[in-house]
Amino acid sequence: MKSRRRPYAQQRPQGLGGGVWSVPVPIPGNPLGYTLVYAVESPKGPVLVDAGWNHPEAWEALSGGLAALGLDVGAVRGVVVTHFHPDHAGLAGRVRDASGAWIAMHEDDAALVRLMREYAGSEHAAFQTDMLRRAGADAVEAGAVMGERPSPPALPDRELRDGDLVDLPGRKLRAVHTPGHTPGHICLHLEDADRLFTGDHVLPDITPHIGIYPYDRDDIDPLGDFLGSLERVGEMGMLDALPAHEWIFPDVAARAAEIRDHHEEKLDRLLALLTRRPEPLTIWEVAAMMTWNKPWDTMSPMLRGMAAGEAAAHLRTLEARGRVRRVTAAADPVRFQALDS
Ligand SMILES: [Zn+2]
Ligand SMILES: [Zn+2]
Repeated sequence: MKSRRRPYAQQRPQGLGGGVWSVPVPIPGNPLGYTLVYAVESPKGPVLVDAGWNHPEAWEALSGGLAALGLDVGAVRGVVVTHFHPDHAGLAGRVRDASGAWIAMHEDDAALVRLMREYAGSEHAAFQTDMLRRAGADAVEAGAVMGERPSPPALPDRELRDGDLVDLPGRKLRAVHTPGHTPGHICLHLEDADRLFTGDHVLPDITPHIGIYPYDRDDIDPLGDFLGSLERVGEMGMLDALPAHEWIFPDVAARAAEIRDHHEEKLDRLLALLTRRPEPLTIWEVAAMMTWNKPWDTMSPMLRGMAAGEAAAHLRTLEARGRVRRVTAAADPVRFQALDS
C-alpha cells in the first residue's frame, strides 16, 4: 500500500471513467501534500467534490488541472464540500466567484462556518487559553499552542442533510452523513457508479484526526460518532473509495473495519493505562502517556494541542461507555479516572 504514496509533484489530473475526474490540488507547507478534488460530469456543467486550500498555487492547480482535462472552471455548476476544513472548503468561494456555482455542505458544518465567521481573533485566543487551562496544560504551553488560523471558508448557499441528493442533473449523488472528523462531515455516494467520495472519513493509509474541542465537553462524543459512521459506511456494500487525500482504493468497508479496530485497540490501551494509574489525571497528563506516531516530548505545541484533542475524544468515549469518570472541582482542571468494571 505504502508504495502508492507519491509526493504532490508526481500527481496528475486524471480521468477515472464514467464522467469522473480527479485533480490533485497542493496544500502548501502541509505534510498531507495535496487534496484530491473530484469533478463529476453533468449536462449542466461539472460538480466538484471539495475544492482545496485557498492559496494562489492551489487555485492554479485546480483551474489548470480542470482545463487539462477539458473542463472549464468557469462552467462549474456547484461545489459540494465534504466538511468545512480549509483543505476542502478553502477554495470553494473562489470557484463560486469564477463560475457562479453554488456551494453546498452539511447543515452542521455550515453552522460551524457561521460561528467561525462571527468569532473575532482576540475572543478566540481567550477561549483557547481557558480551554487549555481546564485540560491541565501549563500557562507557557497554553500561550504557544495558538497557531495562525486560516480565514474561515465561504458560507454555503445550500445546506444538506443525510440522504439528500446533490443537485447534479442526470445523476444520483447522495449525501451520507458521517460525523466524527467534523460534526457535519459527509461522504457522497455516486449511486449510478458504486463509488463513494469519502472526504477525510476513510483514507487508505492514515486515519483522520478525531478530537473534541473544548477538550472537556461532555455533551458530545465525536469518537463514538466516528465509530458509528465507520460502521455505516461498512454497511453500504462493495464500493470504490475516492478519498480526499492519498489515493483511490477498492472496498471501503474493509478499510472502515480496520480503522474501527485501530480505535478500539487505542481505547483498550487507554483504559489499561488509566487502570494502572488510579489517581485522577488531567487530559494533558493522559495525552503525554499515550502512544502517538511521534514522541510527546518532540511534539510542537500545536501537535500537542491536537494530541490532547484526540486523548480527550477517547476519554469521552470511555466515559460514555461507563468505563471512566470525570472528576471536576471548581477552578481545577478536569480529571479522569478508570471505574472498576
Ligand atoms: Zn479534515
Ligand atoms: Zn483533509
